[in-house]
Amino acid sequence: MLEEKEILEILRETKVLREGHFRLTSGRHSKKYMQCAQVLQYPNFTQRLCEDLARRFKGHEIHAVVAPAIGGIIIAYEIAKVLGVRALFTEREDGKMTFRRGFDLEDDENVLVVEDVITTGGSVQEVMEAVRERGANVCGVGVLVDRSAGKSDFGVHTESLISIQIETWEPEDCPLCKEGASITKPGSRR
Ligand SMILES: [Zn+2]
Repeated sequence: MLEEKEILEILRETKVLREGHFRLTSGRHSKKYMQCAQVLQYPNFTQRLCEDLARRFKGHEIHAVVAPAIGGIIIAYEIAKVLGVRALFTEREDGKMTFRRGFDLEDDENVLVVEDVITTGGSVQEVMEAVRERGANVCGVGVLVDRSAGKSDFGVHTESLISIQIETWEPEDCPLCKEGASITKPGSRR
């Protein structure tokens, strides 16, 4: 298994996790910024993280891995490859998380739900409901990064590679602004 230090190294190297002085979409400021999709540019790193996450579910009988599109598609695929099972994804249709494209689950199939990052865990919950609507069981939840401060409780075996909390401030309370540090708006072109 990867150590936390190695996981952080991968997240920094692939720019999933950036450090500096950021103005977030909410208007708040932070020292760290996270964009989980960045790692998906690098198949080798993505594979290493997913292999590690998949190993944590050894001993479960899993028939399929399901993730919410778009962020989870590659994660589900990589984990399913390790487990030797199917990879499916859900999408929203009129706002409701559902299976499209003919994806289906058999009654009583055991499903591992995966996601790149959870903050509130809302989309994982929605995927779990979609799986259960098909008569299948959710036997676990796996996430690369838990940003919920361990607050997400899905009622099944849950594993995350790493837990990361990002502190944010209103601009007037921001310690980096007080130091006069120049600010970046992530997502914008420079
Ligand atoms: Zn600031």
